[in-house]
Amino acid sequence: MTDKITIKGAREHNLKNISLEIPKNELVVFTGVSGSGKSSLAFDTIFAEGQRRYIESLSTYARQFLGQMDKPDVDYIDGLTPAVSIDQKSTSNNPRSTVGTVTEIYDYLRLLYARIGTPYCPNCGKPIKPQTIDEIVDSIMRLPIGTKIQILAPIVKGKKGEYQSLFDELRQEGFVRVKVDGNVYNLDEDDIKLAKTKAHTISVVIDRVVIKLEARSRIADSVQIALKKADGVTNIDKLDGEEIVYSEKLACPDCNISFEELTPRIFSFNAPYGACERCGGLGVDFKIDPDLVVPDRKKSINDGAIYPWSKSATSYYDDVLKAVQAEYNINYDIPFEDLSKKHQDIILYGSQDRIPMRIREFGSHRYRTTLQKFIGVIPFLMKHYNVESEYWKAEIEKYMVTTPCEKCGGARLKPFPLAVKINGINIHEFCTMSIDKEYDFITELYLTLNEFQMKIGKQILDEIRARLKFLIDVGLSYLDLARMAGTLSGGEAQRIRLATQIGSGLSGVLYVLDEPSIGLHQRDNERLIKTLFKLRNMGNSVIVVEHDEETIRNADYIIDIGPKAGAYGGNIIAKGGVNNIIENKESITGKYLSGELKIPVPEKVREGNGNYLQIRNAFRNNLKNIDLDIPLGKIVVLTGVSGSGKSTLMQDLIYEYAVHKLRKNKPKPQGVGEILGFENLDKIIDIDQSPIGRTPRSNPATYTDVFTPIRELYAKTNEAKMRGYKPGRFSFNVKGGRCEACCGDGLLKIEMNFLSDVYVKCDVCKGKRYNNETLEVKYKGKTISDVLEMSVKEAYEFFQNIPQIANKLKTLNDVGLDYIKLGQSATTLSGGEAQRIKLASELNKRATGKTLYLLDEPSVGLHWYDLDKLIKIIQQLADNGNTILIIEHNLDLIKVADYIIDLGPEGGDNGGQIIACGTPREVSKNPNSYTGQYLKQYFEG
Ligand code: ADP
Ligand code: ADP
Ligand code: ZN
Ligand code: ZN
Repeated sequence: MTDKITIKGAREHNLKNISLEIPKNELVVFTGVSGSGKSSLAFDTIFAEGQRRYIESLSTYARQFLGQMDKPDVDYIDGLTPAVSIDQKSTSNNPRSTVGTVTEIYDYLRLLYARIGTPYCPNCGKPIKPQTIDEIVDSIMRLPIGTKIQILAPIVKGKKGEYQSLFDELRQEGFVRVKVDGNVYNLDEDDIKLAKTKAHTISVVIDRVVIKLEARSRIADSVQIALKKADGVTNIDKLDGEEIVYSEKLACPDCNISFEELTPRIFSFNAPYGACERCGGLGVDFKIDPDLVVPDRKKSINDGAIYPWSKSATSYYDDVLKAVQAEYNINYDIPFEDLSKKHQDIILYGSQDRIPMRIREFGSHRYRTTLQKFIGVIPFLMKHYNVESEYWKAEIEKYMVTTPCEKCGGARLKPFPLAVKINGINIHEFCTMSIDKEYDFITELYLTLNEFQMKIGKQILDEIRARLKFLIDVGLSYLDLARMAGTLSGGEAQRIRLATQIGSGLSGVLYVLDEPSIGLHQRDNERLIKTLFKLRNMGNSVIVVEHDEETIRNADYIIDIGPKAGAYGGNIIAKGGVNNIIENKESITGKYLSGELKIPVPEKVREGNGNYLQIRNAFRNNLKNIDLDIPLGKIVVLTGVSGSGKSTLMQDLIYEYAVHKLRKNKPKPQGVGEILGFENLDKIIDIDQSPIGRTPRSNPATYTDVFTPIRELYAKTNEAKMRGYKPGRFSFNVKGGRCEACCGDGLLKIEMNFLSDVYVKCDVCKGKRYNNETLEVKYKGKTISDVLEMSVKEAYEFFQNIPQIANKLKTLNDVGLDYIKLGQSATTLSGGEAQRIKLASELNKRATGKTLYLLDEPSVGLHWYDLDKLIKIIQQLADNGNTILIIEHNLDLIKVADYIIDLGPEGGDNGGQIIACGTPREVSKNPNSYTGQYLKQYFEG
């Protein structure tokens, strides 16, 4: 075993044929400006090769694609071990994934509940205990003559005639009649009917002198006792009095119900044994919400009140609505809310009458009239939801709300598993407590369980407790295990995966992490770094791409890549300890570490325009009925520890409310009294780090719309005119000019069953996206495909004389994206790059000065050098009179705020309050604010 990874000739993306050695079993941090090549080296070279070699050793199914799976562009790598990547991208949107399932803690909990849980009858709430056969026989012996008894057969599913042998047995013992699920049968005559029964309860009667009971453990594996002959058999259907139930399995004697054995699988909501029968284990019902279908009830139908139908380009919906109007005489020009209830209901839920519908045939001008029922907008959407494509489903989901399942109330499980408790708490109740409370609960169990329970439960408890602790260590104590994985932020999801990896206890693994500090308050940073050390101490190599100063300073080894981004980066600039980086005169990172360069604290704060966004009684998620005035015309930063309620306030309330008020296509969000002051704003723009598109079809050129004037320019060339090519010919999104083999993607997607999709270059166009004819058209010697391959800087020089194009490219340049390629697929852009592309296209628009910009942790992925640029754009937007509301943990950005709103004090239930408000200087003086403590360094001394 070597103690280093040796890389020779790495050329992936912008890497400049670099060779280096990376020490193993250490915490290695990659630094450098955004776009310098850190991820290209860490993920696209080292991890990709590690994964490729791993797959090669793994499955034949995956192997058949290996030839097509791109090998990273590198000459040689030695010393590689199996690699695991932990980034923010791979969050699961599967509604069946919860924090509990992805951390595997839920698997241990199922085991725990199966082993030491106490079952109660879900019907009457009494504890249920199985009896041994001896106990049953014993008590039957003491019964008075004539008592009816029932033997509860445990549930065995899917087998026919499983009681046949029991009946044979009973017959031999002299019984004549039996009662099966309430029906009386003659053992001799009703043979055939009985043979088919799958009944759950079977009664026999003990007559006069009873006699001897014999325990038999083997009848059809289901019923363990049979009764011995009586002298005669009384008329059992006439017998009354209480029935007494015996069961060797779990059953409630009072309610006459028997239950499945306690096994881990009955606690799984992702399998039929455990899942609630109504919701299939999802815990929710999906419904179309009339308030989303008609978001603005002040609009008339002619004005587009029926929102989902107002956006369509086809005339179909108009035709349908006209027919309905003609039949029922509904006024389409008055506000929807002024229509009679009956008319509203007809529109939304339809009517039973068959009415004449005059509909234009698709793609023609002919009309056809038929008699049809109008089913109503909501059933229409529901129908399409159930049969249409993924696109339609996603479209219709916009009008759906989920409500807790009516049967399980969101607990996802059947009644019986929910009636199994440990210290009075069922598995779902456990999962809805916050992780720190769960930890306390488990710790408590060590003291309260009896010796027997401890013996079978201790190991499971140890596993659960350790895993909960890892989650607490990475700053997630406020989450709960029932939380759906899809609702987590990228940073939370990443730290969960980190904790899970620690829990798995692997060693000899190479971990590659992408900015694990995202979403974490400075206060919790130290514990995160300790967690990284723990991962290392378990015998793993840890490579972290990080901009956080504390992490950089704590690294065993630093590799600084640069000097700048894209083509101007891709070299190893410095390596070693912090001092090695600082001593290197070429390293921008070193200059910031030494303090030679720094982001300045602004001389003064903005006055604002005197208006406020006034939030009244916000109580969504953990917010504690807060009132808050947000000054407009300023840079306002929302701070607070992870889980304190920042996103809830900004995304769920302010953004949603603004969309409701300003765009009028959504109802008012839940969880807030009201928000006043929108008359002072005319636009809300959410600039997040989500991709600018989900497919290789979106790229910086299409997103910023610079591609439109470029296509027009190509259509104006002589060659294009001669051939009659219009701008559409130069689009890769429509038929005509594009390569049809890949539909203009330049790539082909290969779906891998268990792994993420793999894209390979289209071998018809060789990734150029266009067909040969289109590529024969050139402008200044370059094809449209060549243009997509240019960096922003190259393209800016190339199109210098065409202002329409050059101006848009200049803004991209100004936000520091000179190095990205115009046609670079949206799927390969980092979150920070996507965010800056969005900002650039905002700067292209005419400023109204009344826009509210929302930014969620814009510092992610940014080096000080990039942050400095970003801050300048933000300041420019604010200087134009706009309001910028930012969620941020990065102190360099927080300190340039005009106004800070600090939430807390902690995450989850213990947060959701306003701790401090004011200028950075004011907040730094507030002893109650964690953020204030860290801001002090900039304002004192
Ligand atoms: P960093 O991680 O340092 O921010 P990256 O390694 O992500 O930088 O990017 C280095 C350069 O490679 C950038 O110019 C980036 O735009 C480019 N790049 C990244 N991913 C791809 C890709 N899949 N295809 C082409 N270029 C890419
Ligand atoms: P922050 O942005 O400050 O990290 P959040 O607003 O994301 O905090 O979370 C505040 C609280 O609300 C936390 O307890 C979090 O677990 C909870 N929460 C956030 N989003 C959801 C959601 N979709 N479902 C349930 N709880 C949520
Ligand atoms: Zn349910
Ligand atoms: Zn192609």
